[in-house]
Amino acid sequence: MNYEAFFNAALVQLKSEGKYRVFADLERCVGKFPFANMYFDGDKFPIVSWCSNDYLGMGQHPKILSAMHEALDKMGAGAGGTRNIGGTNHYHVMLEGLLGKLHQKESALLFSSAYVANEAALSTLASRLPNCMVISDENNHASIIHGVRSSRSDKVIFRHNDLEHLEQILQQADPARPKLIVFQSIYSMDGDFAPIREICDLADQYGALTYIDEVHAVGLYGESGAGISQMQGLAHRPTIVEGTFGKAYGLMGGYIAGPTNIIDFIRSFAPGFIFTTALPPAICAGAIASIQHLMDSEEERTKHQERVTAVKDALIKAGISFLDTPSHIVPIIIGEAHLCKQASHHLLTKHGIYIQPINYPTVPVGTERLRITVTPHHTDEMIDQLIVGLQDIWAILGLQRVA
Ligand SMILES: *Cc1c(COP(=O)(O)O)cnc(C)c1O
Repeated sequence: MNYEAFFNAALVQLKSEGKYRVFADLERCVGKFPFANMYFDGDKFPIVSWCSNDYLGMGQHPKILSAMHEALDKMGAGAGGTRNIGGTNHYHVMLEGLLGKLHQKESALLFSSAYVANEAALSTLASRLPNCMVISDENNHASIIHGVRSSRSDKVIFRHNDLEHLEQILQQADPARPKLIVFQSIYSMDGDFAPIREICDLADQYGALTYIDEVHAVGLYGESGAGISQMQGLAHRPTIVEGTFGKAYGLMGGYIAGPTNIIDFIRSFAPGFIFTTALPPAICAGAIASIQHLMDSEEERTKHQERVTAVKDALIKAGISFLDTPSHIVPIIIGEAHLCKQASHHLLTKHGIYIQPINYPTVPVGTERLRITVTPHHTDEMIDQLIVGLQDIWAILGLQRVA
């Protein structure tokens, strides 16, 4: 085999389809969020980020930084082992306790990331529950898909947020069979919410467990930041909730929370939990500080929602259409990979506005988009500049405006 030719051809093909990914080389600056410097062609220039998943700018909150400094100075860099062999630090124990409290669940378990949490928890549950049937929303995240796939259990996909289809599947399944319904509270690329109450009602009616991914909601929604299920008074309904420290909490790492027996089972059987080094103490200390701050403070969430409304209003006024959902995610569909890349490139080089193009396979072909994420730190002036930039690019590329 000519390996060289194989790898080269695959990359050339990606490039010709406009799907080749180029990373923005950023230098985030503490105290200036959402400003950052970008390295490009040996140069460095300032940009405003409109696509960060650090949704509240907590990644540079002074309380978090000082908690991390303290843990680093007291306990050093790494955890020093897997959770089972010398790597469990008191911060892990405190953080898992805090997560149980946040989600009003009996227990919680940490993972290296939310990707790993989904992969490890779902593959373990679905492969070890005898003859398990996984019922999964068609728009679920790649980490969920991979977790379910690697379990090799039967899986049935229901149409996105379609309760009738979900019920049909449940009706047709053997009532005695274990069933696991997997869905997200917010779908990250469209920004829409799931009908949590109705899905949990169906689960109860047909004897299924539920697993909800609240990755894009934790810290942002609900009176103490526990997510959409808390905001809707439904925190007690899903069996297992999954979240991340990588988005609104501003760090990295993932977790699940749920009934003690299930969490203990996953702790005991999931290879993706067992055979990997535990999170560093400083990350856990930062996560504790971030969660605690956002449990007590409504300020960031209120300001966040106010800014989201301001951006949506400005887009409507400018005639730039977007998917209008109840969430903070504002997708502007471009519909073609090359065009989407060009729009992003012009915004960056002409206007210093950074919005990464989102192309296949993250979203379906034909729905390529600019996915704007708004934070409490985006000022009126930045919104004005965003609109000027978008209008200019829309004119250059001949994109449609609406009345
Ligand atoms: C980002 C994301 C994850 C993975 O989270 P990480 O902590 O970054 O690994 C999981 N689920 C969904 C829906 C996501 O968007």
